[in-house]
Amino acid sequence: MEEQKGGLLVVMAHPDDESMGAGGLILRHTRAGVATNLICATYGEAGWMGKPPGANREDLAEIRAKELEEAAAALALNGVELWDYPDGGVPAADQQQITQRIWEHITKLHPRAVVGWGPDGAYGHPDHIAMGVCTDAAVAAMTEGDRPALYHLAVDQPLAQFYAQAARLAGNSHPLPLQPQEKVDVVIELDADEVMMKLRAIDCHRSQLEDWRIAIRDHPQLMKEGYGREPYIAVSSRTTGLTAAGLLGEFA
Ligand SMILES: [Zn+2]
Repeated sequence: MEEQKGGLLVVMAHPDDESMGAGGLILRHTRAGVATNLICATYGEAGWMGKPPGANREDLAEIRAKELEEAAAALALNGVELWDYPDGGVPAADQQQITQRIWEHITKLHPRAVVGWGPDGAYGHPDHIAMGVCTDAAVAAMTEGDRPALYHLAVDQPLAQFYAQAARLAGNSHPLPLQPQEKVDVVIELDADEVMMKLRAIDCHRSQLEDWRIAIRDHPQLMKEGYGREPYIAVSSRTTGLTAAGLLGEFA
């Protein structure tokens, strides 16, 4: 992986956020030759969807860092900056320091667009919300000429319906408390190849493979609805649409 100036910077909280939340967006851009970098704030050491055989809980940070490395290769990311803020403890960490570090990274890489978590954190995850606030602040602190466009990950009604259906299919009676947005600005629709490539990245996060992700595999229509559609909110952008190549407007 080689860091490259310009392009897209994605700022997430946990290993797997990038593949599950923005895998399609990342693939669109890396496949088109747009340099795409990732900041991940934590090692995700608190996640424990299932214990890999022979693994200890204290090894999870290392396991997830390795999984992120594999997913980054599957997504063809140019660079990954993995920080060691505590999983679940991002809001209690020094917010000014996090903002400063994101700002420094933006200053170094000069991305044309930054994509981060919105104030809803998709389902209210405190780490997502805190990282989103710090990302917004870092972008706002850039001088006007250097300031990249800013987008937030979003959940809209069709995506929320998908999650509810997937949870039912897996017999999960406690689905995520999603916060769907009334209106989103950009929807990236993936073709069948892109869905498969995104799935390959998601599958790298083996320690976090949830039941519903396995349950939907026999349901191509659900796979398309859930993985094939990524809504985003344009917080500040040159154009809110997609280019003819399906890239964010900044990459026309
Ligand atoms: Zn997350």
